Amino acid sequence: MGFLRRLVDKAKIKSPWVFHFNSGGCNGCDIEIIAALMPRLDLERFGVKLVGSPRHADIMLCTGPVTEQIKPRLQRIYEQMAEPKYVVAIGSCACSGGVFRGAYNVLGGVDQAIPVTAYVPGCPPKPSAIMHGAYQLLQVLAEIMGVSPKELAPEFEEPPAPTVDTTETGAEVAQT
Ligand code: SF4
Repeated sequence: MGFLRRLVDKAKIKSPWVFHFNSGGCNGCDIEIIAALMPRLDLERFGVKLVGSPRHADIMLCTGPVTEQIKPRLQRIYEQMAEPKYVVAIGSCACSGGVFRGAYNVLGGVDQAIPVTAYVPGCPPKPSAIMHGAYQLLQVLAEIMGVSPKELAPEFEEPPAPTVDTTETGAEVAQT
């Protein structure tokens, strides 16, 4: 049983399946999540797989603020996920309500409705920030489960932090 438990834990770290839920944001964060999954940054190299049902997911990526209207729906979707389950709030809206904070009917961030494991702030956060958040979350999960991510995949290295380059026009360009 101990061996099987450890095998399942290793599998969860090596291939976390994620479900994406927008509770009412502007879609800016959603586009950045897609960019993180695309081949340039390739979040899938960590085994991350986007799935269409919360019943298949280990991690829920949440974007947007939580309103009175969406709260019970978000809670119902969270309840459909199997244990152990984790939630990542992506973007300022999901972290705290962001630009919608204080608006009528807005409760605040995702943690006003369900437990949140990790926060990735920004409006919207860069794909590299989402990568960094995912890496940090996997490290925490590995620590909880007593598994070393590097033991599982030697190429499992922390994504480089984005640098900023000032071009001749003075515009700032993120190098990811
Ligand atoms: S954090 Fe910014 S980009 Fe993301 S949903 Fe809110 S307003 Fe849109």
